[in-house]
Amino acid sequence: MSLNHVGHLEEPVTAEHHTVCTHEPPCPQPDDLDREAARIIAAHPEQGWNLLCNGVVVFDDTGELLPDGRVIDPHRPITAA
Ligand SMILES: [Zn+2]
Repeated sequence: MSLNHVGHLEEPVTAEHHTVCTHEPPCPQPDDLDREAARIIAAHPEQGWNLLCNGVVVFDDTGELLPDGRVIDPHRPITAA
């Protein structure tokens, strides 16, 4: 008599949602200095931000939000309108 539970295999769960870049050449990684050169995969001009292929969110004022939660301050001086 066995109390072992067998035959109940859970699906493997991947913790992070990893988007695989299929562009050629591949887009820069979020840690690269040229991260802004990645392709835009979701544009929201009405909200003032774009989602890049590498997971970086770029705002209209050049501020950035990295996939790991880091925030990059706007680095392009805003001239008087
Ligand atoms: Zn890409």
